[in-house]
Amino acid sequence: MAAQEETGHSHCYDAIVVGAGIQGSFAAYWLAKRQQNTLLLEQFPLPHTRGSSHGQSRIIRSAYPQDYYTDMMGEAYRLWAELEAKTGTKLYRQTPTLFLGRQEDPEFQSYRQTMERYNIPGETFTPQALAQRFPGIRPCGGEMAVSDLSAGILYANKALQAVQDQFRHSGGTVRDGEKVLSILPGDLVTVTTSQGKYQAKRLVIAAGPWTSHLLVPLGLQLPLQPLRISVCYWKVKDHDQNRVAALERLPCFLAIKLSGEGHDIYGLPVDEYPGLVKICYHNGIPVDPDKPDQLSQTSADIQILEEFVSKYLPGLDPKPAVQERCIYTNTPDEDFVLDQHPHFRNMIIGAGFSGHGFKFAPVIGKILCELSLGEKPIYNLAPFQISRFSTLPKAVL
Ligand SMILES: Cc1cc2nc3c(=O)[nH]c(=O)nc-3n(C[C@H](O)[C@H](O)[C@H](O)COP(=O)(O)OP(=O)(O)OC[C@H]3O[C@@H](n4cnc5c(N)ncnc54)[C@H](O)[C@@H]3O)c2cc1C
Repeated sequence: MAAQEETGHSHCYDAIVVGAGIQGSFAAYWLAKRQQNTLLLEQFPLPHTRGSSHGQSRIIRSAYPQDYYTDMMGEAYRLWAELEAKTGTKLYRQTPTLFLGRQEDPEFQSYRQTMERYNIPGETFTPQALAQRFPGIRPCGGEMAVSDLSAGILYANKALQAVQDQFRHSGGTVRDGEKVLSILPGDLVTVTTSQGKYQAKRLVIAAGPWTSHLLVPLGLQLPLQPLRISVCYWKVKDHDQNRVAALERLPCFLAIKLSGEGHDIYGLPVDEYPGLVKICYHNGIPVDPDKPDQLSQTSADIQILEEFVSKYLPGLDPKPAVQERCIYTNTPDEDFVLDQHPHFRNMIIGAGFSGHGFKFAPVIGKILCELSLGEKPIYNLAPFQISRFSTLPKAVL
């Protein structure tokens, strides 16, 4: 481990991580845990609500259509539990996730098959059984469901705070309100911020929706699209106490291609606002992360949600009671980017989490740390490599 040194005008670290969202914070934590003198740089004063990691809740589940995601979840659950135990903070609550879909839909079937293959505890519901067990849901098109009983909710804000605390506890330094303005490659990477200059042997870029702002000057244009997501909360309109209770007890759900546009819609039980169910559209509007308010609130995604709620959850008021926003950073295939910069091997990129990266963060942080130490992670990283974009016109590798 190199001690932090003053080298003329700059401080020298073993590692610098850009971005204190959930992925950068976990990468920094792992680096510090591995005895690397690590600096975590964040452009906004912490905590903030401008990126992708804020808010109270995220779904965690094991079932995925692609095995390379399910393969990571065993370790992810263990590491979340470890963080809970270390910090004495409750970060997780078990609640099933229901996958709702049409029996003939291949994506719906792939969730069922994964659950069988991996022995994930769960149940299958016919439309009748579904309506009986969850009276708030109306499977009006004969939809079925399969439930992942290993699933739950992560308390996102608390999780972010917990991992940053553990990073500091392991000797790491956080500098927030300090924007990275430029990165100069080299054996020692030089990072210039709004407040100073730092050097490090290795750099991890985990800048969420701003990743391209840092990569383009480094000769790398990846197809990363920031999308503004409307986070909507819906009120129970019913006055019958039993029906209110049934709606408030809804589990997490993922409605597979049940919106007219063919994208998924997901929901979480009442948590952040008393009596309000969180339901969001898993797609959004392209946005400049520095100007997230440039778009009007009334947009096609809200209309799609309103139609879905009227049709499938008729006990909810079909107008959102509260609207907030968050940003996804999508890749064309919605798989992550976990890789080295193709020309600068001591720069590692973690990006493109495409609206489903939170649950994996402890494992992703570990992978980013291992890549930056020149080690080979145990997971299949082929789906996350930058080279997969080489045939796309937008990618300059
Ligand atoms: C509404 C919504 C719901 C979601 N639901 C789920 C879910 O249920 N389950 C799940 O697993 N995932 C979910 N996700 C996805 C998950 O939250 C994201 O994948 C994850 O938070 C991405 O984290 P990140 O660290 O990559 O990005 P961010 O949180 O955006 O962090 C990047 C950080 O980098 C900083 N930064 C950028 N540029 C600079 C710079 N130049 N200098 C210094 N700092 C910089 C930013 O300020 C930011 O803090 C959801 C996302 C949203 C928006």
